[in-house]
Amino acid sequence: MTLILVAGLPSCTRKGEPSGRFRGAASIAPLSSLLRTVAGEGWDIHTIVPPGISAHVFEPTPSDAARLARVDLVVTVGGGYDPWITKMVEACASKARVLDTAGFLGLAPEESHDEDEHGHAHAHSHSAGHDPHWWLSPRLAVEVLPELAATLSRVDPAGAAGYVRRSAELEASILELDGEIERHLAPRKGTGFVSAHPAWTHFALRYGLTQIGSIEPAPGRDPSPWEIRQLIDGARKGGSSTLFTEPQFSTAAATAIASDAGLSLALVDPIGGVPGRMSYVEMMRFNMAAFEKGLARKAGGS
Ligand SMILES: [Zn+2]
Repeated sequence: MTLILVAGLPSCTRKGEPSGRFRGAASIAPLSSLLRTVAGEGWDIHTIVPPGISAHVFEPTPSDAARLARVDLVVTVGGGYDPWITKMVEACASKARVLDTAGFLGLAPEESHDEDEHGHAHAHSHSAGHDPHWWLSPRLAVEVLPELAATLSRVDPAGAAGYVRRSAELEASILELDGEIERHLAPRKGTGFVSAHPAWTHFALRYGLTQIGSIEPAPGRDPSPWEIRQLIDGARKGGSSTLFTEPQFSTAAATAIASDAGLSLALVDPIGGVPGRMSYVEMMRFNMAAFEKGLARKAGGS
């Protein structure tokens, strides 16, 4: 699959004149949000994967390649989540620095699994050490901030003091957010939940919840009848009668399961980047509220 991906890469045409500003890119909106805040006014930051699309099945376009060919810094999730981005940077002989955030956090991808046609080892990862969705734990997000500041400073040493200052300010607001989520979800501690895809391991670990299973266990694959039975039983035993859907995934399977089993649906969003959850902090507040409400619905009625 790697060969196909590289052979199918869009061309690296460079367009545009130097603007005197720095250019940065991140694969997904929450990373862009963190990067944009730490980078400040001197940078233009672009998000590669549009908000409504799952990065797990994303196909880069020629304009993505053209843009990556002329950025100074690329921030990737890493950990098998967005391998196409590093390949594009290499194929375009871009001089961009690449920050692999999951790698920095020590979240190694699992050994690759041939049955996954998209090559996302992540899809089969259920332990926290392999789940690349680190940004869904604010505690992991703050660990990445100093590395963002350091990487920005390597590109632009003159701006170092500003990067360090903004990183510290953002850390303070994210830690405040973390405390707020902790307080809101404390009454839900110990509750299990079913997600749209296995993205919430770090979030669950941080707030004392359990991700029992996912409706889409691998990108583009619907659950088998046996898996559906497991999900319903898990949700009931776990104490939550809510299935959590995500904007990047089809709700067809979740809707069918919920109506068959008498479960409710609630929307959470691991990517954001849309009005109301544009910034990282707004997105996490949205998820806090959705989990607080959704996990309050106990299985078995009453
Ligand atoms: Zn994901």
